[in-house]
Amino acid sequence: MTSFVSRLKNASRRFLNRPCILCSQSCGGPTDICTACQKDLPWHQSGCLRCGLPLPNNVARCGHCLPKPLYFDRCICAFNYQFPVNRLILAFKNNEKLVYGKALSTLFAMRLKDYQPLPDMLMAMPIHWITKRRRGFNQSGLIAADLCRQLDLPLLHHACKKIRWTAPQKSLNSASRYKNVVNAFEVTLDLNSLHIGLVDDVVTSMATTNSLSAELKKAGAREITILSLARASLP
Ligand SMILES: [Zn+2]
Ligand SMILES: [Zn+2]
Repeated sequence: MTSFVSRLKNASRRFLNRPCILCSQSCGGPTDICTACQKDLPWHQSGCLRCGLPLPNNVARCGHCLPKPLYFDRCICAFNYQFPVNRLILAFKNNEKLVYGKALSTLFAMRLKDYQPLPDMLMAMPIHWITKRRRGFNQSGLIAADLCRQLDLPLLHHACKKIRWTAPQKSLNSASRYKNVVNAFEVTLDLNSLHIGLVDDVVTSMATTNSLSAELKKAGAREITILSLARASLP
């Protein structure tokens, strides 16, 4: 019994004093990034309120998104895609460091708690089944599940799928990115005037999120908020 109690004490001590994933100092908060390291993260501070492009001040629409027909209504990002957030996201996606994704999602949820109005429900940016089989998981699905749990929002499953494989967006220039994702998605549910939060890990040109947003609006969505862990600058 004594050894059970001491094992329990050790386990709870380990849980309460986990090492920070960035500096290895112990941290006891809800996320595995200590308070000092949180302050140094490249938080998304200001920019285009429509597409999230980082700028010194907030603007209703920026020169990049103004000429384009946009189907989403706003984009909220937790971080700029800079060190160390870029390294953490790449390790999360490519090396299954799920704890990194969870730490960043928790910080994003803490930031979103004060945001109004939150979407009625969240859905993850879908990936093609070949990519999912290769990676073993959909990174946006894990972020969306974490956000739903912490914000007490429902997660919309199986509302849409990626119906054709597309070349990686990072291999293309800005104009080709929009062509690459035309008709890449199919929405299979009636979205019945809902405000949908579309969750992604990193947004850049917004071509992919915009293409899916067009389909979501066709399927009846009233409003679409893009919720992205990080915002990359333009290619
Ligand atoms: Zn730290
Ligand atoms: Zn913009």
